[in-house]
Amino acid sequence: MSTVVGVCRSFRDRALARCFHCFPCLSNPARRSSLGLKVNLVMLHLIFVGILFLFDDGLIEKTRKEPWYTVLYLLLLFATLVQYFITSSSSPGYAVDVMRAVNETNVIYQKSAVASKQPASSKNGSLIVFVEGSQSGRSFQGSNPSSWTKLVMDMYSPGTSVRSCTCSYCNVEQPPRAKHCHDCDKCVLQFDHHCVWLGTCVGRDNHCKFWWYICVETALCLWTGILYITFLKANISRAWWKDAIMILLLVALSISILFLLLLLLFHSYLVLTNQTTYELVRRRRIPYLRQIPERVFPFSKGVCRNLREFCCARSSNYSLESLPSPQELEEKSRPYTCLDVLTCRCC
Ligand SMILES: [Zn+2]
Ligand SMILES: [Zn+2]
Repeated sequence: MSTVVGVCRSFRDRALARCFHCFPCLSNPARRSSLGLKVNLVMLHLIFVGILFLFDDGLIEKTRKEPWYTVLYLLLLFATLVQYFITSSSSPGYAVDVMRAVNETNVIYQKSAVASKQPASSKNGSLIVFVEGSQSGRSFQGSNPSSWTKLVMDMYSPGTSVRSCTCSYCNVEQPPRAKHCHDCDKCVLQFDHHCVWLGTCVGRDNHCKFWWYICVETALCLWTGILYITFLKANISRAWWKDAIMILLLVALSISILFLLLLLLFHSYLVLTNQTTYELVRRRRIPYLRQIPERVFPFSKGVCRNLREFCCARSSNYSLESLPSPQELEEKSRPYTCLDVLTCRCC
C-alpha cells in the first residue's frame, strides 16, 4: 500500500515539476491561488449564462429573430469579465512604490544637475511635490533620502511624531489615510479594504475601477435574473429537473443581486463623501479622525469635486491628501442654513 502511495506521490511531483517548468509563474503559491480564483470566477459566470442558453429554447428562438438582444447581453458579460481582470491586476497604490518614486525622481534630478555642471541651487536640485488637500499648491523641497519622511510629516498636524506615523511592518512612513494590509504585506494609500473576490486590495489607485466592476457585475446579474424569470414564467412543458436547477440558480442569483446592489450604493456614498470603508468602520480607532464629529467628512471637497477626483485625478503618483486644518474642520462642521442649501454648499 505504501509503495502505491509513494509511486502516486512521485508521479504527482514529476507532473507538477514539468508543469512549473512550462509555466514558471505557477511555482509561486500566491500566484497559483490568484489564478485559481480567476478561473473559478470565469467558470461561475459561464455556468450561469451557459445553462440559460442550454435550457432556454425561447432565448435561442429570440436570438434568431433579434440577434442584437443576445449580442448586447454577451457584450455585457465580456465587459464584466474584462473589468474584473483589469481591477484584480491593478495596483491599489502602495506607499512604498510612491516613496521609491519620490526618492528616485529626486536622485535622477540631482544627477542631471551635476552632469550639466550647474550650481545645484535649491530650486533646480530638488524635488518639488505638490500635495493636494487643504493647502493646494503647498510645496515641499528636499534633496536628501528623508524627503518622503518630511513630505509625510508635512501632511500631519504639527507636533505629530515620526514614530507614530511609521508602519511597524514595512517601516514606511504612512501618509494620512494609508494602512498596512496584512494580506498584501504592504501599506496601501487610501486603504478601503482587501477584497478576497479580487485577490487584491482596493485603495487610491483602483477604487474607481472597483466601483465600475460592481456596477457592470450588478447590471449583468440583473439582466441574467430577468432571463431566468422569463424562462420559468414561459408556459412550455419541460422536464421538472430543469425547473429545479433554474430555481436554485435564481435563488443564488437573487442573493448576489441584493449584495451587489447594497455594495454599489454603499461605495457610491463613500465616493460622494470622499471616505473609505476602513475610515467609516474604524473611525474611532484612527487617531486623527477620533476627535472629528461623526457627521463631518474631513476629506470631502464637495460632491462634484469628490466625484471628479475619484474618476479623473487618481493617476498622479504625488496626489496625496493632507489632514484638514482646524479652520477647515470648523467650516465643514458648521450646520447647514437655507442659504447653504440654495448655494449648493455640499457640491
Ligand atoms: Zn506597512
Ligand atoms: Zn491587501
